[in-house]
Amino acid sequence: MPRKKRTGFGDVSIERERFDRGEARCPSCKRPIGPADQPAFVHGLGSGESRLATMRCGRCQAMLTVHFEEPRRAEPSNP
Ligand SMILES: [Zn+2]
Repeated sequence: MPRKKRTGFGDVSIERERFDRGEARCPSCKRPIGPADQPAFVHGLGSGESRLATMRCGRCQAMLTVHFEEPRRAEPSNP
């Protein structure tokens, strides 16, 4: 298991698919957060999928930065 990168307060790290299902939670008040909270997606240069979004928790008003993890693919590692 890779070493977990330390995230600052208000940082959420989750797969995009799970975020879209509303499985992310505010680290401050544990309220579920998701697409309904109007995240502002930050688009990187050249890449299609956004890997970062900023949003505000609807309950505690904390500013949250959401990092979208690369989904794990179950591909066989045949050379
Ligand atoms: Zn909150």
